[in-house]
Amino acid sequence: MLSVFSSPGHYVQGRDATAALGPEMLRLGLTGPALIVAAPSAERLLSDTWRATFKAADTDYTVHRFGGECSRAEIARITAAAQNAAVLIGAGGGKALDAARAAADDLALPFVSCPTAASNDAPCSALSVIYTDDGEFDAYQLVARNPALVLVDSSAVVQAPARLFSAGMGDALATWYEARTCVAGHVKNMRGGASTRSAAALAELCHRTLLADGPAALSAVRQHLLTPAVERLIEANTLLSGLGFESSGLAAAHAVHNGLTAAPQTHDFLHGEKVAFGVLTQLVLEGAPTTELNQVLEFCCTVGLPVTLGGLGLPGADLALVRTIAERTVAPGETIHNEPFLVDAPMVADALLAADSLGREFSPASGG
Ligand SMILES: [Zn+2]
Repeated sequence: MLSVFSSPGHYVQGRDATAALGPEMLRLGLTGPALIVAAPSAERLLSDTWRATFKAADTDYTVHRFGGECSRAEIARITAAAQNAAVLIGAGGGKALDAARAAADDLALPFVSCPTAASNDAPCSALSVIYTDDGEFDAYQLVARNPALVLVDSSAVVQAPARLFSAGMGDALATWYEARTCVAGHVKNMRGGASTRSAAALAELCHRTLLADGPAALSAVRQHLLTPAVERLIEANTLLSGLGFESSGLAAAHAVHNGLTAAPQTHDFLHGEKVAFGVLTQLVLEGAPTTELNQVLEFCCTVGLPVTLGGLGLPGADLALVRTIAERTVAPGETIHNEPFLVDAPMVADALLAADSLGREFSPASGG
């Protein structure tokens, strides 16, 4: 098997980075009319800066207001709006970026990723997660190319709700545990190749950065302050986690996330919040030692990530529902089958309930 490492062409991050968007695109040869797929919050925050930066770069652009769900219907609306565009820009949270990326792929246009929250590891990747219009996980869409440019405006990130930042830590927390499993099992990464030492090292650095800087960074973000710890966490949530997951691979934690979306009660919870509980479930499934379980429990409780089913809108752990979630988690093609042993629904149901029990014992206040 060939080793494959995948990454965006260019990564820019920092205070007021949006002001550099036009010139950066110009420098990379991304000229011509641009369509910005913008979440409403991104448009509110950045529309004045877009006007100035694209004027400076002499680039025409139009804005398509993102409909809220990364569904086939929304992707078709973007594709229709982009008929005269030479480049697509996504601005907002994970779903706005994913929808813009999928539309750019359909049109074979270059894609520029401008996350305004550090809430997940999607911005750097060549992967869009497609949902139904009702918010249930539908499919992964692998696109041909990673973004030509990822530009993260840290000033925008600290204006977003702190809960989004926490959720990004949940998504980033999974990176090393899933990478470790994939590397040990010699399974394929998200680009169909073997992992590299580079990808594994980035995943491990992601984990170390979260533990070292996560709580201090979250404290600053709660006050909308931009500090070096926040910059390091933005990089961990966006770049390290993105490169780590894509080029090392996913395992049980993300499959548990997909399983949880089968319960409509979880739809108000963020991707990274469900992934965090997926990490705990994966470690239980893998028989991880108590010290490691406690490290994850403590980190999640410190940064406000759920460690129980109750913390994800599923109090009382209805057994029929847990079975439905477990069935969805082990669906054919799910990344849980990257675990180095056969996994079936009863094993996952027990791991979900055992993780929930650990979480309740560790943090009685977290409910459930
Ligand atoms: Zn994720």
